[in-house]
Amino acid sequence: MKYIGAHVSASGGVEQAVIRAHELEATAFALFTKNQRQWRAAPLSAETITAFRNACEKYGYGPQQILPHDSFLINLGHPEMEPLEKSRNAFIDELQRADQLGLTLLNFHPGSHLKQIDEETCLKRIAESVNVALDKTQNVTAVIENTAGQGSNLGFRFEHLATIIEHVEDKSRVGVCIDTCHTFAGGYDLRTEADCEATFAEFERVVGFDYLRGVHLNDAKSTLGSRVDRHHSLGEGNIGKTVFSWMMKDGRFDNIPMILETIDPDRWKDEIAWLKSQQVA
Ligand SMILES: [Zn+2]
Ligand SMILES: [Zn+2]
Repeated sequence: MKYIGAHVSASGGVEQAVIRAHELEATAFALFTKNQRQWRAAPLSAETITAFRNACEKYGYGPQQILPHDSFLINLGHPEMEPLEKSRNAFIDELQRADQLGLTLLNFHPGSHLKQIDEETCLKRIAESVNVALDKTQNVTAVIENTAGQGSNLGFRFEHLATIIEHVEDKSRVGVCIDTCHTFAGGYDLRTEADCEATFAEFERVVGFDYLRGVHLNDAKSTLGSRVDRHHSLGEGNIGKTVFSWMMKDGRFDNIPMILETIDPDRWKDEIAWLKSQQVA
């Protein structure tokens, strides 16, 4: 079973995201459970939690179909102690919010070394942040997203993801989300079926499909290996539609949320319908 959706707005309340996903005829969705550009947010009220859970039940979304995304401000590999602590506390809060909503996944960007510490030190620091956060929370898996590698962001090589996982103590609560735009910008080709086979064979060898908890479906305005993070609508960018059609036919992507973060929300409904149409009957 493929779960396909988009990262929908939660404006007006997290329960509104569920309704927006339903209107797109999506079978999955992503959302921010708080304003992603602010450090602090009011705790989720009991009413909000109930409204979200009721909407999920009404429209048929289970936790395996929902991939909340954490705040853009969090850097779990920050070279300095004070901002690192702030990030860890915010990440713990995000995990707790997801748990309160009955969710079991939290998608996050690994972190940035800011040219102050080396890659290996930063990756180990990210893993330690995950260890600290998992220790203080329950039920929710920390899902590391691969990145385009812009600036000093780590996570653009599959080896980065593997190193973080290696140093996380509770392997049952760590996973990865593969973003197609980031993969391509990070230097892994996805333009032909042979490229897809090779790239995901490399993913299997270095990380393993056992850790795959989600996918972000984005074409790219950026070019192969450019390390630039610019999404595009499916088929409009430099990757093209082949990878998306190919994924829909591959059972290794079953039963995980597959989320559009493409640039034109007006196309999401059509993009979701097209993706569904590409599955094997
Ligand atoms: Zn993404
Ligand atoms: Zn991106």
